[in-house]
Amino acid sequence: MAESDRKACGGGKQGCSDSGCGSKRRPVEDSLDEFLEREQMEERLGRIRHKVLVLSGKGGVGKSTVAVNLATSLALAGRRVGLLDVDFHGPSIPTMLHLVGVQVTTKDQSLVPVEHAGMKVMSIGFLLRQRDDAVIWRGPMKMGVIKQFLKDVEWGDLDYLVIDSPPGTGDEPLSVCQLVPDADGAVVVTTPQDVATADVRKSITFCRQLDMPILGVVENMSGFVCPKCGEVTEIFKTGGGEKMAADMGVPFLGRIPIDPAVGAACDVGTPFVYHYAGTETAKAFERIVAPILALSNEDAKNEKQQPCNETKEGMMRIAIPLADGKLGMHFGHCEQFALVDVDEKAKKITGQQLLTPPPHEPGVLPRWLREQGAQVIIAGGMGQRAQSLFAQNGIKVIVGAPAEAPEALVAAYMDGTLQTGDNVCDH
Ligand code: ADP
Repeated sequence: MAESDRKACGGGKQGCSDSGCGSKRRPVEDSLDEFLEREQMEERLGRIRHKVLVLSGKGGVGKSTVAVNLATSLALAGRRVGLLDVDFHGPSIPTMLHLVGVQVTTKDQSLVPVEHAGMKVMSIGFLLRQRDDAVIWRGPMKMGVIKQFLKDVEWGDLDYLVIDSPPGTGDEPLSVCQLVPDADGAVVVTTPQDVATADVRKSITFCRQLDMPILGVVENMSGFVCPKCGEVTEIFKTGGGEKMAADMGVPFLGRIPIDPAVGAACDVGTPFVYHYAGTETAKAFERIVAPILALSNEDAKNEKQQPCNETKEGMMRIAIPLADGKLGMHFGHCEQFALVDVDEKAKKITGQQLLTPPPHEPGVLPRWLREQGAQVIIAGGMGQRAQSLFAQNGIKVIVGAPAEAPEALVAAYMDGTLQTGDNVCDH
């Protein structure tokens, strides 16, 4: 199918409004059931803005690790994210997120995804009684399950669906690519040793044959991070992924070292990027995620509706975490937030409201304040990770402000006389 065909119909990103479009007509070869099934799938997927497939030439290279950390990073950046695990060979997402044994519920004949770490999660592993059950399924059965997942899971409106696909270039990843024809593209995960084999090249050729764009190649397990000193040692020859990507004319997204903390993060059920801001490995993940996050940066601009934190021209909303009516030093543990509206030109406060924040978890408050329309947060202390999450949500951060009443702080901020001291938070 040509690229233009893939994007033009199939219920594309915005759904297809063309009455003459093939996606609305029932092709002669389709039974009524098949037609209705396709319609339902298109409707579901049409509510998801960006679909990203994570592929690899073979198992064990860290495909699921990349998928879960990519999805978590997008969620931490304030995006609405779904993570779908259709890797029949080893559905490892439930293990990585400590969701083994979770019972999936249904509502109105739809499967309800599990909410975890700020995202919606659905895995083939939730439906298997035994981990190896799916291995004996025949191809059409697997195809049916993938289809059912795409058709029956109630994702709602999402900014991203990250799909952890089966490895290789056989029928299973083929089904995923065919069933999600309007995906933004694939992230291909490899290791330095794998680069030397034909597997990863096969994956790239496979995507090309299916007109599936390649978002980029990730070289995982590239070097080893010493858990004591943090230094990265190159135990195998690295850099082959970058050369191979250049040779094949696809983007290279970056390298992730072998870091014991990546595996250890699974012990607590939340992925690595949730815990280890600032480390070399975390920075490596950030670089890989950046171009994928950028896919959604244009969305708000293209919407008719204004993005949440864009208020009327000349007006600004400033958030201040409070404890006992004054600025609380630790924004994550404050009782309330004051949201103060100001007329920037007149330098006047035009309104104020007090809101109780949701419980503190990484990424939750930046997203919540963005939804409340905040453009600035004045805080006492704030760690680097939180600062970057606020920035990703379009919120400017002022740290080191004193424990004063919100009106006084806002007035001083507007006058340019706000005295800021040390950032009291060092984590
Ligand atoms: P795949 O999905 O390709 O089969 P996984 O993501 O399940 O691979 O990873 C296989 C194993 O390697 C897991 O135990 C995972 O924790 C570990 N792993 C993956 N990437 C890294 C890394 N960069 N550092 C340390 N361990 C890793």
